[in-house]
Amino acid sequence: MSPRNPARRASTRTASQPRQAPQAPQASQPRQASRAPQVRPSDETPAVPIQLAPRRRNAPPRHFADLTTEERADAVTALGHKPFRARQLATHYFEHFSVDPETWTDLPAAARESMASALFPPLLRSTKVLTADRGTTVKTLWHLFDDARIESVLMRYPKRTTLCVSTQAGCGMACPFCATGQLGLTRNLSAAEMVEQVREAMLTLANGEIPPGPTRLNNIVFMGMGEGLANYTALMAAIRMFAAEPPHGFGMSARNLTVSTVGLAPAITRLASEGLPLTLALSLHAPDDDLRSELVPLNQRYCVDDVLDATRGYFEATGRRVSIEYALIKDMNDQPWRADLLGSILNKRGRGWVHVNPIPLNPTPGSIWTASDVEVERKFVERLRAHKIPTTIRDTRGSDIDGACGQLAAEEES
Ligand code: SAH
Repeated sequence: MSPRNPARRASTRTASQPRQAPQAPQASQPRQASRAPQVRPSDETPAVPIQLAPRRRNAPPRHFADLTTEERADAVTALGHKPFRARQLATHYFEHFSVDPETWTDLPAAARESMASALFPPLLRSTKVLTADRGTTVKTLWHLFDDARIESVLMRYPKRTTLCVSTQAGCGMACPFCATGQLGLTRNLSAAEMVEQVREAMLTLANGEIPPGPTRLNNIVFMGMGEGLANYTALMAAIRMFAAEPPHGFGMSARNLTVSTVGLAPAITRLASEGLPLTLALSLHAPDDDLRSELVPLNQRYCVDDVLDATRGYFEATGRRVSIEYALIKDMNDQPWRADLLGSILNKRGRGWVHVNPIPLNPTPGSIWTASDVEVERKFVERLRAHKIPTTIRDTRGSDIDGACGQLAAEEES
């Protein structure tokens, strides 16, 4: 699709220069917009271009978790074993989270090592583990086979445990407020590289390594590094393994798997046709194309109306209420008129299909942007609720270990 809403770029200025005269409000915006301070992304950040093609195309070695059930049986047969061995391997992997051949005692001792090396090449190597919240938030930095880096964040709450998973090394979407967005896209992850992040977390939880004791993983959010819908095939293969009944997968409820997207409208429509009641989160961050095209550059290709129509279509196809993510950035997107505009563009598409998650911005290093003042945040929420939009502020677990939303940016080796 050709760009429908080219970004309006404000002229660059330094922080000490006077602000530009604010834009005249559009017809749909109340007059007070013209008097409120307006910080623009382009005031500070040189634009990083959207990058759809990864810098690297190398694929990790084939892994058991890249294969369908049939392909696993074929792979085991090709190694000279009976096909039923694939089911035994799947039980070890998906039910016991084990890739250690010594624990595979129901398999012939002589076959274990060769199966392990042919089908379970190590894909993730943990190089740094940071904890917060008395050990209940854990961020892990992983090195991949080609030394690309990703991160995952495990968050244990009193009644549930959630893993934030990466879908790409880096990200090509170039959102200026997101640390990963500034890295560019190194490469897509394979399905197994996503599944391995989850298996590692499940093993950690089953072993009782996260206080207060052993537990299971309930939720997965694809809100780590990357834009999952830009890596659609591998993402769906991983999702099917998360949802498949054991021993073919982890047996998780699709409702507890959340795909978060900047708004790749055709991929949202495709996701709606998969027949899975996944939870969809749309990173909207602004209700008007003018600002959104700067905050989420892909908006230049799929504008607010396009992504909301696709998202509403997702609700109609799946019956799943959609989450709208909205990072509240001081004086940028937190004006009451934007809350009103958001309420009206959502309600225009029906009632009861959506809820909004404002997230206080986690400032990325070096950024002059900050989270909205608490009072402004409260007012924003109040205005949305006045439009009868269910609204809950999202927590920012792990912000002190750079593990909260948008802060994931694997460090370079020193
Ligand atoms: N590419 C996907 C998923 C990764 S980011 C997406 O954009 O949805 C997960 C969420 O964190 C998104 O809603 C993203 O907009 C948000 N986010 C990114 N940077 C942030 C920051 N600095 N503060 C708060 N939220 C941020």
